[in-house]
Amino acid sequence: GNNSPEYGMLYDYLDFMTSLAWRKEAPEKIDLKEAEAVLDREHFGLEKIKRRIIQQIAVMNLKKQQSGSILLFVGAPGTGKTSIGKSIADALHRKYVRVSLGGVRDEADIRGHRRTYIGAMPGRIMDGIKKSGVSNPVMVLDEVDKLSSSYNGDPASALLEVLDPEQNSTFTDHYMNVPYDLSDVLFVCTANTMDTIPEPLLDRMEVIRFSGYSASDKLQIAKKHLLPKAMESMGITKDMLEVPDPTIEEIISGYTMESGVRGLKNRLDTLCRSVAVHVEQDDDKKVTVLPEDLSELLDMQPIRHGRKLTETKPGIVTGLAWTSAGGEILFIETLFTKGQGKTIITGQLGDVMKESAQIAISIVKSMFPEKEKLFEENDLHIHVPEGAVPKDGPSAGITLTTALASLVTGKKVDPTVGMTGEVSLRGVVTAIGGLPEKLMAAARAGLKTIYIPEENIRDLKDVPQEVKDQLQIIGVKEVSDVLKANNILDA
Ligand code: ADP
Repeated sequence: GNNSPEYGMLYDYLDFMTSLAWRKEAPEKIDLKEAEAVLDREHFGLEKIKRRIIQQIAVMNLKKQQSGSILLFVGAPGTGKTSIGKSIADALHRKYVRVSLGGVRDEADIRGHRRTYIGAMPGRIMDGIKKSGVSNPVMVLDEVDKLSSSYNGDPASALLEVLDPEQNSTFTDHYMNVPYDLSDVLFVCTANTMDTIPEPLLDRMEVIRFSGYSASDKLQIAKKHLLPKAMESMGITKDMLEVPDPTIEEIISGYTMESGVRGLKNRLDTLCRSVAVHVEQDDDKKVTVLPEDLSELLDMQPIRHGRKLTETKPGIVTGLAWTSAGGEILFIETLFTKGQGKTIITGQLGDVMKESAQIAISIVKSMFPEKEKLFEENDLHIHVPEGAVPKDGPSAGITLTTALASLVTGKKVDPTVGMTGEVSLRGVVTAIGGLPEKLMAAARAGLKTIYIPEENIRDLKDVPQEVKDQLQIIGVKEVSDVLKANNILDA
């Protein structure tokens, strides 16, 4: 009978199989100038990234292929990774489909369940193919850094097979149980961080970094893209609403704290929604939004820029951190309390950062042998406030060492000074990651002087000029360079 479970399962299966596109599409030769125009139309800036995409399209044209290197877009949320994936599809005149891999724990999420399993379903890849309606979509695999493995097989190795040009022409989803040719799919992956992506997957992809936007980039993105879109989606026209530049700048600096523009987009959406009410109530009056109107229209308090230290004590130094949400400044606080030489570390530091703290202690003891007694007669407390921000990685080494040196000598460090760098036991400062994000955060927070590892000076080419103009950036080889420049050590 047609209400038996077998009937339903078979129906679903056949429905799925027949809704897939089985026909191969002929590769289309893409006009590079036109493709460039499409990328420029939807996205401000991102020049290097657009150039790389155009190169990829040129190669695909030459080889008459529909896919090529697998690009991995890495960067903070809201930096345009997903949305440029959509533009790639537009530039190629191909269908776009987005598949989220966040929270995938099970191999079956990628490769499907066998039909003998109750509630069997195809995996997310084939589900995406079905949604696209074609065999050659541009498929954006979002959040590859959020794949986790569990006892139910290894989703990463299933994904490896999906991305491998040697194997993916005969990809077999367990639910379908017949091979499907994925070789014409153009895969683009996105991630907030590379740290959690399994090495074999990473080897297969070409990493492209989205380092975030400066305040003036954000102003342009808001004016050219985010605000017009928000207005259009709420039926607000130009003769109803004016948002002058200083207002947008105030939203950026006073109502968001981010490398990307996701918060900015949300604020502008909220603003338009609030304005819609005003326009409705007294028509034919044009609303001009001034910075002082924002708190009410956005229904929030401006973010206090009290984040920057205004006054400081010996033992406190500002560092720069890099999390998957972008750059941030953080404060390292050190304090001696009566005790017997214990070290107390608080603020939820990761193991690597705790090791940096131990290294900092050893360096400072050997640099200031006359202060050794302080460590014996007191407990040393190291704290990094704001427990919610995960804090790890070696790049706070220089900040920890400077904070401790400041503590033992009683000499303060200027609160507008920030620093980042890994430090070896011999006091040598070595390179760190995330420099653009860190410097943007420093500029946002109003810092003035930043010490970075000499080895990272070459990465300054990736930092927006505007950020470089705002900061005095000094490359250092040894931690003693920082201590001398800040009068903690005699020059
Ligand atoms: P991500 O995938 O990096 O988290 P999204 O692609 O979702 O970020 O971007 C968030 C929003 O910001 C989208 O609406 C996107 O169109 C917009 N956006 C990001 N970067 C740009 C840019 N350079 N130009 C125009 N809009 C942008």
